[in-house]
Amino acid sequence: MRRAADEGSPLALACADPAPPGQIGGFRSDPARSGLADLRNGQGRKCAEDADGCHKNQRRGTWKYRPSAACSCHCAVRRGCQLARPGLGLRQGGALFGRRHEQPHSQVAGNAFTMSHSIFSSDAPHPEASSLTAFAENQLNRDAEHRDEESIKHALAKEGTHILAFAQDRLVLKHDGQVLDPLFARYELQDLDPNWDEAVLLGYRNTGEPRLAVPVRINADELASHYKPADMRSLWRDLLLEGEILGEAAQGMSLVRWNSDNRFCGRCGSIMESRIGGYKRVCTACEHMIFPRTDPVVIMLTIDEERNRCLLGRSHHFAPGMYSCLAGFVEPGETIENAVRRETYEESGIHTGRVRYHASQPWPMPHSLMIGCYAEAKSTEIHMDDAELEDCRWFTPEETLAMLDHVSASGNTSPPKGAIAHRLMRDWVEWKR
Ligand SMILES: [Zn+2]
Repeated sequence: MRRAADEGSPLALACADPAPPGQIGGFRSDPARSGLADLRNGQGRKCAEDADGCHKNQRRGTWKYRPSAACSCHCAVRRGCQLARPGLGLRQGGALFGRRHEQPHSQVAGNAFTMSHSIFSSDAPHPEASSLTAFAENQLNRDAEHRDEESIKHALAKEGTHILAFAQDRLVLKHDGQVLDPLFARYELQDLDPNWDEAVLLGYRNTGEPRLAVPVRINADELASHYKPADMRSLWRDLLLEGEILGEAAQGMSLVRWNSDNRFCGRCGSIMESRIGGYKRVCTACEHMIFPRTDPVVIMLTIDEERNRCLLGRSHHFAPGMYSCLAGFVEPGETIENAVRRETYEESGIHTGRVRYHASQPWPMPHSLMIGCYAEAKSTEIHMDDAELEDCRWFTPEETLAMLDHVSASGNTSPPKGAIAHRLMRDWVEWKR
């Protein structure tokens, strides 16, 4: 699905088919995560076993591989086995069990399984890739379970409350010629005509200080000279804000924009009012309720394992020489994995198989979530969508690293640090193999 160029589950791992475990871009494919070692037990169900060790769940009438306790597990996921199906491990006795294909089966004693490997084990060179993306450092306590109709009033009454002000899609910064300051006390906002009926409670800092966002009624282009309006992209790329405050601004931008875009009821056209601190809108006539929207976007680095190269493209609007991951919106009724495979094929003509989730990034232009994945190439001949892309090519790790570090002899570049595409490219190159 195409939209404006700007707009593009830690356990979301999937396989297109029950292929043997391998590697995706240097990442060890972990059967316990990818579901290759599906061994939900058939407790209480009568199963038949064929010569290959494949079982048929006779009650459900569905096939799946279910290794026996004595099996030495050389056959858990064989390509020729039509019956093996991906899953997410084993839940038994209230605990979630996972297994590595390379390791022996979990020891079975009666119904008690001993976990041999955690599904959360990782060889990552850093703790969580998502935390290394821009807009992701928001540390506010959202206190979602306590939001009510009095939330904004109580927050505004609290001493030390600071507010982010938005003029249309731009954050208003105070400046004295040298320092830019995005935080307003309530009394400082008088000149900007804030619309408190549309204010949003973002959350609380660890000091207990509430943090709010409010739209102002002054046009961004008509602000006095001691104010500077800046869009979210500039706040990040020009380093006007960083770290936690950039993440708070992203949250504020998405929520202020969602409230602004939903002033009228989609069912009857009557006025909608903001409720519970800006996280719900209710129609004043028919009581139709809506809640904040987040648009999922898949962004993927497709890897040709055999030739050790990755697939990158450049849109017509990119800066000269810049190449990035392919991306697109997830459509209704579609899984993340299928969206990755569909978008990759539509834009490049490349068929992909296994898909592995890597990281996500809030993308407040205006309210998307970028879902970064690796995809395993199943074909190599590119048939580019000319309307979508200006160029699409395979790149070696060396070429990719040179682009990331701005030392490419060709002059090609990558998206900047903080972009999830940068993260996907760098982790593919640098992940310990
Ligand atoms: Zn209505």
